[in-house]
Amino acid sequence: MTGGAGFLGSHLCERLVSQDYDVLCVDNFFTGTKRNVEGLLRNSRFELMRHDVTFPLYVEVDQIYNLACPASPIHYQFDPVQTTKTSVHGAINMLGLAKRVKARILQASTSEVYGDPEVHPQVEAYWGRVNPIGPRSCYDEGKRCAETLFFDYWRQHQLDIKVVRIFNTYGPRMHPNDGRVVSNFIVQALKGEPITIYGDGRQTRSFCYVDDLIDALVRMMHSREGFTGPVNVGNPGEFTMLELAEFVLKLSASKSRLEFKPLPSDDPRQRQPDISLAAQELDWGPKVALADGLKETIAYFRKIVA
Ligand code: NAD
Ligand code: UDP
Repeated sequence: MTGGAGFLGSHLCERLVSQDYDVLCVDNFFTGTKRNVEGLLRNSRFELMRHDVTFPLYVEVDQIYNLACPASPIHYQFDPVQTTKTSVHGAINMLGLAKRVKARILQASTSEVYGDPEVHPQVEAYWGRVNPIGPRSCYDEGKRCAETLFFDYWRQHQLDIKVVRIFNTYGPRMHPNDGRVVSNFIVQALKGEPITIYGDGRQTRSFCYVDDLIDALVRMMHSREGFTGPVNVGNPGEFTMLELAEFVLKLSASKSRLEFKPLPSDDPRQRQPDISLAAQELDWGPKVALADGLKETIAYFRKIVA
């Protein structure tokens, strides 16, 4: 697994080790940490390797989950050239590895490939509306190019590929300073600081709890031969940022006030996955309601936020 020491990767490592897989976790620790996988370090089924996926990797594996890539706007905009390289060179290197060892390979793509969408909810057949030259482009276009590479390796070399488009996911082990809305609101609420609403707060997102997402990734890896995706994975429950703020304030019993700030450029106005394909092919749907997932996430942040 690349990016295995990150938020999603560390949960996926745990899930796979618990199912008796041998897991090689490859990470350069840009946004991930050893702490995220420290519970696994003594397990003989788990191996941790510091490596940057923009460089070739020679190992022997049967399955590859390619998750390496910073995912939050603050982190992926910190070194945008490296972000594109991680998606594009990282995909080329991991596809090359999959080709050499004949491994099945899954790409963690993103709802960002739809950009600021005119089609709502988003279906896999929609090609998206992405700005190629904006501050989010290093991530969005990097991920789009990675999808292109996956499908060209499939067409040209008959690689066994699986592409998952992940919608906003939250849960324990999110980075407290990564600027994503769920972690920001919870940390602000717990510290009694103002809740920062960008724009008028009427933009929407659909939030999936991490356990549901991991379930979908594992199902996709084991889906029928010939099913490549792309497949949307997320929770269709759609909320405005104002509704999310209200939820977080209530569940954390916080008295923080709302503070309105400018909307970042190219911020999508709405996002909601159509997950009928995942239901049909993976027999999957999210089970955790936003309120329950937020309670777990708030409990996690209470332990790490002073
Ligand atoms: P994260 O930042 O916590 O994890 C990314 C991991 O990749 C980190 O451990 C980081 O150190 C590692 N990494 C970054 N660049 C690397 C490189 N060049 N070489 C090796 N390792 C590298 O983010 P996350 O939320 O866990 O996201 C995991 C994947 O899922 C990403 O590919 C992301 O694009 C995708 N995704 C996540 C979400 C979400 O809501 N969390 C939504 C859509 C897609
Ligand atoms: N957002 C916000 N306040 C914050 C952080 C984010 O209102 O403190 C908004 C942001 O403008 C966006 C939404 O929340 O409209 C989701 O942002 P996030 O960065 O979590 O994910 P993405 O935009 O990549 O979906």
